[in-house]
Amino acid sequence: MKDIYFDHNATTPVLPGVLAAMLPFFEENSGNPSSGHTAGAKARTAIERARDQISDLVGAAPNNVLFTSSATEAINTALHSAIHSRGGERSRIVITAVEHAAVQRCAIAAEKGGMEVIQIPVGASGALALDRLDDAITAETCVVSVMWANNETGVIFPISQISELCADRGVPLHVDAVQAAGKAPIDLRVVPIDYLSISAHKLFGPKGVGALVASPHLVAPFMLGGNQETGRRAGTENVPAIVGFGEAARLAALELKQRSDAVATLRDRLEQVLFQSIKGCYINGLGQPRIPNTSNMGFDGIDGDSLAGMLNASDIYLSTGSACSANTLTPSHVIMAMTGSYERAGEAVRFSLSHLNTDAEVARTIAVVEQSVASLRSTQAPV
Ligand code: PLP
Repeated sequence: MKDIYFDHNATTPVLPGVLAAMLPFFEENSGNPSSGHTAGAKARTAIERARDQISDLVGAAPNNVLFTSSATEAINTALHSAIHSRGGERSRIVITAVEHAAVQRCAIAAEKGGMEVIQIPVGASGALALDRLDDAITAETCVVSVMWANNETGVIFPISQISELCADRGVPLHVDAVQAAGKAPIDLRVVPIDYLSISAHKLFGPKGVGALVASPHLVAPFMLGGNQETGRRAGTENVPAIVGFGEAARLAALELKQRSDAVATLRDRLEQVLFQSIKGCYINGLGQPRIPNTSNMGFDGIDGDSLAGMLNASDIYLSTGSACSANTLTPSHVIMAMTGSYERAGEAVRFSLSHLNTDAEVARTIAVVEQSVASLRSTQAPV
């Protein structure tokens, strides 16, 4: 039987059309974009096309799209730029308690360097405490960094309200839109954001390429060396990956609604059936706006790792925390921030689907989850 991949928030496969767009840039069009000859010009043109495609996906000026090696690098660049703007005179960073490690670690490093970091809590369903955010944004704040959609629960934050709060106070806003891009509409002409980070491999593009979308004057170069990306980021561009990112963004923009509708139907069926058929099934983030592909569930008394292990043995792949922290024994900081419960954090499993999944895959997964939970419960000692 074919493997079932339900871990699209960790990474996505490269779509055939994306791979086809990339291939010529490994061989016949393999020039260095900084070279003066025609081969270099072809690579430069391809990069500029990709820049246009990505700017279309998020409603930005092409000039504001800066290619990086990952969203992690984009996030580091954004926070580094914001912290060092205005001669570093502002001393407060505001983030949320459920940010990805890339944001959290940048904040921790800044805190060690003497800055004040305020973490805004979330409620039990993952909703951001907006009043707390409002209070935390002061004249001392050099940047507010929030995610558009959470990688573990899919919960969407009210970015347009946050954008207004920041704009009113003249405080730069960074948004980690890695899990939202390609799954939810993003239009920076409607919702202005100073720094937006995205990643190709979460939207059916290749790994190892991301983008920071920000006005060039807001970007303090982080990688020093050559004059690539108009001096904003040194290092020879990963041309095939950038081309793939562009094509993936073009397809994501074109098919956004179609993909969202298809995946929401699958995700909703998975949730509804499991919720009804398994006693003690609950959904983290239920009742909040969520991206359409993500379901973070728990089953009372069932260890998430044991369940994921049984699903893995049936060739069904999902995660129990974010992929970046799956090898550590620390409980999910996201579920901890929501519930304060080690038990709940230990029970969480994340199904992250895509439009590439099928009804039959959902049906097989439901059957295997039902059997696995029953089997795990039957081996538990009665309390
Ligand atoms: N931000 C979020 C919300 C993510 O889910 C991830 C990846 O898991 C990242 C940032 C980092 O992205 P990248 O793998 O491109 O560095």
